[in-house]
Amino acid sequence: LRLFKSRERVEALLQEATAKELSYTDFLDQVLTEEVASKTAKHVTMRTHLARFPFVKSLESFDFGYQPSLDKKQLQTLSSCHFIEHGDNVVLLGPPGVGKTHLAVGLGLKAIARGYRVLFTTAAGMITALTRAASEGRLEDRLKVYTVPRLLILDEIGYLPIDRAGATFVFQLISRRYEKGPMILTSNQSFGAWGDVFGDRVIATAILDRVLHHAITLNIRGNSYRLKDKLKAGLVKPVEATTT
Ligand code: ADP
Ligand code: MG
Repeated sequence: LRLFKSRERVEALLQEATAKELSYTDFLDQVLTEEVASKTAKHVTMRTHLARFPFVKSLESFDFGYQPSLDKKQLQTLSSCHFIEHGDNVVLLGPPGVGKTHLAVGLGLKAIARGYRVLFTTAAGMITALTRAASEGRLEDRLKVYTVPRLLILDEIGYLPIDRAGATFVFQLISRRYEKGPMILTSNQSFGAWGDVFGDRVIATAILDRVLHHAITLNIRGNSYRLKDKLKAGLVKPVEATTT
């Protein structure tokens, strides 16, 4: 019956139940509660592994005090994963180091805890994989890899230039997920600059049109967390003072 936890624990639980004179119901409840908890933990571990996160960091470990432009309440609302049920997208915009990937992973972990399948990929990684698949005649299969998971996290849109073929692949993927497959997208570029990111205004507009139709956008303005200690020591200047 694959009740591995029960097999491991049944002797001890029986002894405990005898000593405490538990009712049959309470005993059964205890055995099954432990079995379910163990199975859930295993599924979470497996799905976390399959999600291919670059690191595993929770929303709870995010220091909102360091990023006051972020609304903690809004993230708490998102962590309930209603956006996934509604098929909404979440877009995280902001300069490097402000925690976009951390937040995307944190939300991905919440989704996994709720039983959703999640896949994390960078835009560049996905485009490379789709390009290779297309050249080997396996584009359909590869597109499925990115459409099947309930939540797709597409990280780092805008760090690397995307050629026309790459932009077409992204468009194909976004069209397939449109209105049924929620995504979390992150970018260091404002929407206005996505024309340059995708090297084609028409495709960029078509992509944005679909992404933003049902989307929650969070603009993170602030200093890189990677520079936190250097800022403290006065080795670098804060963002406010160096940008206009
Ligand atoms: P981005 O994706 O925006 O470039 P990351 O999410 O990769 O930034 O953040 C860079 C590093 O700093 C990561 O290790 C991340 O966990 C950490 N970090 C960023 N912001 C915070 C924060 N507010 N609280 C805790 N850790 C943070
Ligand atoms: Mg990142």
